[in-house]
Amino acid sequence: MDSCVFCKIVACETPSQRVYENDEFIAFLDINPVNFGHTLIIPREHFANFQETPDAVLEGMIKLAKKIAPAMLEAMSAPAFNVTFNVGPEAGQAVHHVHLHIIPRFADDGHKAWAGRHRYAEGEMGATAKKIKELIK
Ligand code: AMP
Ligand code: ZN
Repeated sequence: MDSCVFCKIVACETPSQRVYENDEFIAFLDINPVNFGHTLIIPREHFANFQETPDAVLEGMIKLAKKIAPAMLEAMSAPAFNVTFNVGPEAGQAVHHVHLHIIPRFADDGHKAWAGRHRYAEGEMGATAKKIKELIK
């Protein structure tokens, strides 16, 4: 993937501040952090997004998040963190090489993970659950 910025990071053509790497994955600091210490985990191999990524690779990414998060929390003196995949541009995915965000969080840091919530109308919640249930392959 010649034009992929994260493939360029893998190839060391673009610099990165790596906090961990192995044969399969690299974890590095987000250049434009939500909070300082915001870390991204990527597989060395290019997959466009969460859905395109093999289960075993996703499993490796999650395990790595669990390994790195305590160090990130301690280093940043953060009490909490978010672990997030953005999947698709409408969900905020700007880089189309699968990545897992680990974001340190602080009380009153001004960020709201979900700024708004909806309320189902009468019967709508059951109908929605039924629709999703029937479409799971
Ligand atoms: P997303 O919006 O989920 O696609 O997240 C992509 C993330 O990659 C953003 O938070 C960017 O700040 C980050 N990013 C983009 N380019 C670089 C780079 N060269 N080094 C580190 N982080 C980057
Ligand atoms: Zn890539």
